Amino acid sequence: MKAFNFFIPTQIRFGVGRLKELKEFAPTYGQKCLLVSRPLNGSLKETYSEIIALLQAVNIEIFFFDEVVPNPTIEGVENGVSIAVKNKVDFVLGVGGGSVLDTAKLIAFLHNSETKIDWDKAISDYDNPFSMTPSPKESLPFIAISTTSGTGSQCTQAAVVSDTKSKNKITLFHAGLFPVIAIVDPELMCSVPSGVTAATGFDAFTHAFESFLGGRTSPMTEQMSLQAIQLVLDNLPKAIADLKNIEVRSNLAWADTLAGMCLANGGADLPHPLGEIIGGICPRIAHGDTLAIVYPAFLNYKADKAPDKFIQVANHLNLKADPGALVEAILNLFKITGLSSALEKANLTQQEIESIKGHPLLSQLQPENSDRIHQMMDESLNK
Ligand code: NAD
Repeated sequence: MKAFNFFIPTQIRFGVGRLKELKEFAPTYGQKCLLVSRPLNGSLKETYSEIIALLQAVNIEIFFFDEVVPNPTIEGVENGVSIAVKNKVDFVLGVGGGSVLDTAKLIAFLHNSETKIDWDKAISDYDNPFSMTPSPKESLPFIAISTTSGTGSQCTQAAVVSDTKSKNKITLFHAGLFPVIAIVDPELMCSVPSGVTAATGFDAFTHAFESFLGGRTSPMTEQMSLQAIQLVLDNLPKAIADLKNIEVRSNLAWADTLAGMCLANGGADLPHPLGEIIGGICPRIAHGDTLAIVYPAFLNYKADKAPDKFIQVANHLNLKADPGALVEAILNLFKITGLSSALEKANLTQQEIESIKGHPLLSQLQPENSDRIHQMMDESLNK
């Protein structure tokens, strides 16, 4: 059997109603907490109130950073670190989708009494998902409560932020970016609107699928990927039709968690850096939608490169043993969920299209394959 590594240090508390357990374990991490979130009076208002009550019931003092934006920014992380340092918090709690969790994990990880973050150093020090370098000395414990089913951020060592000046999305990797504890309570996801459900559900699919295509698969991640792929294909259309169905939401949350562990251990493929080029230039586009924009061209390319892997997935799904059958099933999911109109919805300007097509990363990702990658991006934007 193939030798492999598998690493996930996060304690995952999965299931309906598990949110309440926050008050049991939060005091273990101290008495002062930074709660990182979207605006407190937004769509997750009731969840935030419940969390505040749970923490106050065990005398935890709460400080707030509720200014996280979708496709979060390095300025947000810096503001959060300032609040954490000024109030000498003991731990960071992130409650939200990937944007909030990534901001919160970076605040905890890069927490530093100097408050100034050296981003160039952070980018060069933390660029490898699989290295085992020590965490910065002043890092704080980070607890994640996920409210979307997509990024897997509650169980990955990655954090993505946008540099608004250079218009680039930056991904930092380090074992210290795994949360100490993650609560995955599907009840919190019933309020996710249909467009976000589609984009996030597809994101989970991509983590499972791309890690399956890569060279770092293991007997563990292969099984987890296949299960997550099937869960998304079966449940995402049902979730769009019935947003508050707790069974369906649970299945998607489970797919997201499995796929996150696959991503953490197997890595992603080309659609992720390509999607991040689009998201860096156009932060208004949801991460899952940027993936939907590049996926049809990627599937075309990859079905030829890795037909055996496509057939393995097709077999697992009881489809015809043909790469084309899997591509058709994925494109069918796009039609049912509205993801096929992601490009139209993005409404890219000519200037944005030119910046995306001219992005230097397109030549740097796989220099030997640069023409094909440029072609993939052209096909994606010229539909
Ligand atoms: P998001 O966190 O940006 O949330 C999208 C929208 O949904 C926001 O308006 C948010 O307020 C709203 N929302 C979240 N939960 C809700 C709920 N329960 N009810 C109603 N509304 C809710 O979206 P996302 O897709 O979860 O995260 C995207 C970010 O995660 C991107 O920056 C992406 O690059 C990053 N990402 C990180 C990883 C990782 O491993 N760290 C992996 C993939 C993507």
